[in-house]
Amino acid sequence: MPISRAALEALPKIELHVHLEGTVDADTARTLAANHSLDPSSLPLGDAGYPTRFDSFQHFVDCYLGVSALIRTPDDLGAIAAAFAKAQQAQNVLYTEVTFTALTHVRNGMEPKAMWQAVSDGFAEADTHIRLIVDAVRDMGPQHGTDTVALVEAADADICALGLSGIEGSTPEREFRMLSEAAQEMGLGLTIHAGETKGPEIVRAALDDLGAQRIGHGVGSMPDDELVARLVKDFVPVEVCPTSNVVLGVFPSLEEHPFPEMWKRGMNVTVNSDDPPFFSTTLTDELENASRLAVLEVADVAELQRRAAHAAFCSQDVKGNLLAAIGVWEEEHTEVPS
Ligand SMILES: [Zn+2]
Repeated sequence: MPISRAALEALPKIELHVHLEGTVDADTARTLAANHSLDPSSLPLGDAGYPTRFDSFQHFVDCYLGVSALIRTPDDLGAIAAAFAKAQQAQNVLYTEVTFTALTHVRNGMEPKAMWQAVSDGFAEADTHIRLIVDAVRDMGPQHGTDTVALVEAADADICALGLSGIEGSTPEREFRMLSEAAQEMGLGLTIHAGETKGPEIVRAALDDLGAQRIGHGVGSMPDDELVARLVKDFVPVEVCPTSNVVLGVFPSLEEHPFPEMWKRGMNVTVNSDDPPFFSTTLTDELENASRLAVLEVADVAELQRRAAHAAFCSQDVKGNLLAAIGVWEEEHTEVPS
């Protein structure tokens, strides 16, 4: 039986791939611009908000950086973090690992201590558990990786992992080995955006050159049977964001998205929202899309959440609590044959 929207709303959720700066909606972006007396025509926004389709990944990056540049003060950041935490709580997201490009804000002049404090105070405004993945950006070059590591080493914040994002193919993955070394030294996780807009070679480089523990997106792996077999065998967590891939033009429609194939081939997939207002989606919407496309039932959706819990960069105690909540939901939503 198809799973209902109400059941998905009640589902205890875990989200592993969402960007804090990507949660700024169009109204908030306009307000930030007004507060800082910036010319609204400089905003990457039409009257209707963000574009419904981006012309290219570069177009999206420009839009994203335009919005990031509106975040001028720790108060701006705190308000964004609080709004995000409340939205996660409202969707019954129990646990989130949110990616935050901290270096962008420091390079724009924000004082690091105040920045970390603002994020942590914002998250504390809702009853949900949120931890940070601090990412470096490929197209900013290796120095961005080195400076990100230094920022994280000095940070007083609940950071669970390092990440790498940005334009694939702009800088070879091996030039970001400082991320792997620092993650190992600091006992942090490492997740790499790979196979989002480019193919299997980037996913292999993320695994072989950087020792990625999780792959962000990974849809570009699909044409390579050997790589898919490896991802299945090693059960590498793959953070799939279906609507993001469609709005960025990676696939023409949700119907042509490979999520169902990834699921059927036994890949360790999780479902995520990436930059929800930029793509007019939410985590609940993405779970609904995934359920419809792959014809998932209650047990399958519970399994998706269990995989996310196991893939999370958190303690066994936290995982245990998440798994228990998922188990309760599954029991409540499983029909007992009469
Ligand atoms: Zn992403």
